[in-house]
Amino acid sequence: MGKRKAHSKKEVKKAIRYAIDRGWLVKGGGSHSHVWGVLYCPAGDREGCKISVYGTPVNPKGTAERIIEYVDACNCLERQERERDEQV
Ligand SMILES: [Zn+2]
Repeated sequence: MGKRKAHSKKEVKKAIRYAIDRGWLVKGGGSHSHVWGVLYCPAGDREGCKISVYGTPVNPKGTAERIIEYVDACNCLERQERERDEQV
């Protein structure tokens, strides 16, 4: 797999870095897709959050804000931990 092309919009790039710093994963969209990549929260694919990021968003600032909002709202890890505690 080649190196991911950085996102062209600096606001969005910053938001993506914000997510990565908090343990989110980035997986690439297809080469023929408008989707630059998909962000997955630290809970993984199971029931975690997922954000599709477009390569050329109409509103980069709004897109960046939406990403950060999602990242801040994610409490999947806490939820998983609670569920584990309940099983013991
Ligand atoms: Zn989550």
